[in-house]
Amino acid sequence: MKLTAQDKRLIAEAKRAIFKASPVRLANTGDVGAALVTSKGRVYRGVCLGFYSGIGSCGEYQAVGSMISNGEKEVKAIVAVWYDRKTGRYTVIPPCGKCREMLWEIGKKGRDTEVIISATQKVPLRELLPHPWGKILAVQPGAFRGSRG
Ligand SMILES: [Zn+2]
Repeated sequence: MKLTAQDKRLIAEAKRAIFKASPVRLANTGDVGAALVTSKGRVYRGVCLGFYSGIGSCGEYQAVGSMISNGEKEVKAIVAVWYDRKTGRYTVIPPCGKCREMLWEIGKKGRDTEVIISATQKVPLRELLPHPWGKILAVQPGAFRGSRG
């Protein structure tokens, strides 16, 4: 699918989340920004975090956390943008496997989430993740309860 004007604004929002200078004492932090728009039209942003201790998360994860903490749970569209500190160039990147699963599990229509995968194209999540792992949990609620605490 081609990008709409709203999709292009979402890419600009993801760029705003990026921290161009490498933060001191943090690894792989700040160079990927993400933005999502909800079914209500609100935009939430996030930035990737990576610590030398091994703790880290993607920008999409942070954006979803912000959305949920504001009482929403339906992602209409999402994008992640990587800033190359060496060249100063921005690149729209598709979500990693973990984020695809996370998006699939959110809300009632997770599989229909519009995912912007390049500067010119978006696809529904179901095309990026045709066989979601989380579907097992939806069919067998509580199947993995023990591992989730
Ligand atoms: Zn990810």
